[in-house]
Amino acid sequence: MTDCVFCSILDDEIPSYGVYEDDETYAFLDANPLARGHTLVIPKTHAETLGDLDDGGKAVFETTRRLAPRTADAVDAPAYNLGLNNGEEAGQEVPHAHMHIVPRFDGDGGGP
Ligand code: 5GP
Ligand code: ZN
Repeated sequence: MTDCVFCSILDDEIPSYGVYEDDETYAFLDANPLARGHTLVIPKTHAETLGDLDDGGKAVFETTRRLAPRTADAVDAPAYNLGLNNGEEAGQEVPHAHMHIVPRFDGDGGGP
């Protein structure tokens, strides 16, 4: 059992609701969503920040780019925010790099 919560999710030791997976990335619903459909995209390799990955997290950005509009469509959201809390001082709580896809709805006061 790893002490990284997202590695435990990748190892199926903690259940998650997956929405996308390929060789390098996994995407699943956030357990404490900021909005309906709030999704996290993570690299399958453990790295605290995307910059710690050899390719700078290229696959995570690519999955996020492709998945974000589909995520918004799936919950009928007209817009979305993408977020990356990179480092503790930036608000990163889980030390396994991840991108947030947060669908936004009319009048929900969205925005960073
Ligand atoms: P951070 O603040 O590190 O950018 O965001 C971490 C995110 O991971 C939070 O939005 C939090 O709700 C989510 N999270 C933390 N633990 C779990 C978990 O065990 N399962 C899922 N699905 N999401 C989690
Ligand atoms: Zn990890």
